[in-house]
Amino acid sequence: MTREKLIRQLIPQSVRDTSAYRVPEASGFIKLDAMENPYEWPRILKAELAERLANASLNRYPDPQATAIRPQLRQYMNIPDDLEILFGNGSDEIIALLTSNYIATGRSVCAPDPSFVMFRVIANQYHVPFIALPLNASFDIDIEAWESMLAENNPGLIFVPQPNNPTGNLFSKLRLEKIIRQSQALFVIDEAYTAFNDVDFLEWAKQFPNVVIMRTLSKIGLAGGRLGLLIGAPEWIREFEKIRLPYNINVLTQEAVRFYLEHAEVLKKQSSDIRNERTRMVSLLCTLGLSVWPSEANFVVVELEEGRARSIFNGLKGKGILVKCLDGSHPRLANALRLTVGQPHETDALVGALRDLIGR
Ligand SMILES: *Cc1c(COP(=O)(O)O)cnc(C)c1O
Repeated sequence: MTREKLIRQLIPQSVRDTSAYRVPEASGFIKLDAMENPYEWPRILKAELAERLANASLNRYPDPQATAIRPQLRQYMNIPDDLEILFGNGSDEIIALLTSNYIATGRSVCAPDPSFVMFRVIANQYHVPFIALPLNASFDIDIEAWESMLAENNPGLIFVPQPNNPTGNLFSKLRLEKIIRQSQALFVIDEAYTAFNDVDFLEWAKQFPNVVIMRTLSKIGLAGGRLGLLIGAPEWIREFEKIRLPYNINVLTQEAVRFYLEHAEVLKKQSSDIRNERTRMVSLLCTLGLSVWPSEANFVVVELEEGRARSIFNGLKGKGILVKCLDGSHPRLANALRLTVGQPHETDALVGALRDLIGR
């Protein structure tokens, strides 16, 4: 028996036919493609962190409950005492846990379209039927379409990023509430970008029996640490805890999160700098005559002239600036680039490069 033959027998065709998730090589680039926090930590804090990590007990298994970071996160995120928290190795892992065959057995998973690609990718991996919910002309909930699709398909799980990625807008609260009240599905409101706007839906996790909230530390400065949160009524979280792998949050992450949250003022300041820089970036992009979509997140979408997105994306790359080209992800995003808000000097470089490339 050859290895090739064994692989054909044991690995399903559906897996063999796809490719692994890839991210572009980014060293040496101004990196504005992945919604990361662009700021470094002060040298002195880095030295302190190094000391803390050096003393972490890497020979021991991590605390499976990550007890030490819970009170800090409750405080940082204003999580009410009567809601519980489940931790994931990034929210990606929480999406996988919820989508896995254990939840909503036999029912489908939904997310808006366009939206975060991982909802669909993970559903496909678990062979869970995925239904894309269309958005209207302003990328808000298309209420009639959603009502009829939900009635027809009776999904078990619905992901709603609030604000949405990659469009940057918040969905109408009234429309979302209307859908939630009508549906027998669990709604996961994904607040990955909550640090960059003034709304949150934590109260809904108490108010509605079918709502839980997902958050992450990735966008505020710990993308490399991988910590996602699912926040919900104890009855929900208790069930999900049973299918979480016990040691999913490693010792170094727990220690680093603890340290970062002891210096929460640094994180808060960075998020607020990013918000201010978003405002400046939008106005600079507008001076180039570009169509800039309003954003409640740490990225901005610009729409270019018909058919130019790919070439401008490549032009930026040639100038050492990495952004996200949305062409190919959805018909209505064919002319769009998604630009993560970086540091001021990075914005200036980006705007200068764009000016050269579009000839203004
Ligand atoms: C970036 C992002 C996440 C974060 O994923 P992590 O695995 O926590 O890094 C989740 N949801 C949306 C909509 C995002 O854009």
